[in-house]
Amino acid sequence: MATLNNDTRPTAVAVGRFAPSPSGPLHFGSLLAAVGSYLYSKQRAGKWLLRIEDIDTPRVCAGADSSIMYTLEQYGLLWDDDVIYQSQRLARYHDVFNQLQQRGLLYGCQCSRKQINAAGGLYQGTCAALNLNKSRTTAKLSWRLRASDVPCQFVDCLLGPQQITPALAHEDYILLRRDGLFSYQLAVVVDDLDQGVTEVIRGADLLSMTPRQQHLFQLLGTTAPMYGHLPLAVTAPGQKLSKQNHATALSNWPASYTMARALAILGLVLPADLQQAPAPEQLTYALANWQPADIPAVQEVLTSDFG
Ligand code: GLU
Repeated sequence: MATLNNDTRPTAVAVGRFAPSPSGPLHFGSLLAAVGSYLYSKQRAGKWLLRIEDIDTPRVCAGADSSIMYTLEQYGLLWDDDVIYQSQRLARYHDVFNQLQQRGLLYGCQCSRKQINAAGGLYQGTCAALNLNKSRTTAKLSWRLRASDVPCQFVDCLLGPQQITPALAHEDYILLRRDGLFSYQLAVVVDDLDQGVTEVIRGADLLSMTPRQQHLFQLLGTTAPMYGHLPLAVTAPGQKLSKQNHATALSNWPASYTMARALAILGLVLPADLQQAPAPEQLTYALANWQPADIPAVQEVLTSDFG
């Protein structure tokens, strides 16, 4: 019998990504994000892209990019397509920035981080009505996006409905820094857009930034990807593993131990005979057996041994 639908074109492919900042070697917290986002995309027969977020040049550590890639390969986390470097995309960020500026969505700000911290830490829109860009100020300006329309809620595809404090959601945030560098917020959205990312699976430290990123997608005339946030590895409540707080290098543990720990945090306990198997083999098992619904709905998980 003839089928009614003989359209054999592939359906739209899922595109996930892992976007580490090369400020040091991969630590356990980033590995967790890599494993979670890899499994999520690959279970949907999607692509998993690797993007090196080296936009914040003062924090870039020479050689960290190759060290991160080497570690990912050891764990069987093999990415698709070419690796993108943010440092090679400045012209594109510039174009988007100019476009937003011409639409009157941005304003120049002369406040220092020290002043903002002294006023409580969240920027209060002090320069919003000063038209500093038009005045003859000699101070270096940062450029902020007016954020009063940023929603305070979103639905996280792993954690469900989320509510962000209005003061944070509506904070006018920086797109271009005083030192002339584009901000993470601008670069991450432009890259996710240009790379056709359909699902952003990452650590819960970025959960509160999600509505502003979704809003920026909307300003750029397109739909935002899905966002899902994974438990964040912390050494103490609120203390995420990072180079700054001396996360230990992953090479201190056998890869099988580290992968088994990461999978357990994501809700998959490996059978006894795979506990010490090579990490890529453990990952293959996870691909067939893990389910996103198994991830405990917590924003932090204590992993003091990796701290
Ligand atoms: N580059 C960011 C980090 O390493 C991740 C950005 C993201 O996943 O949106 O924390």
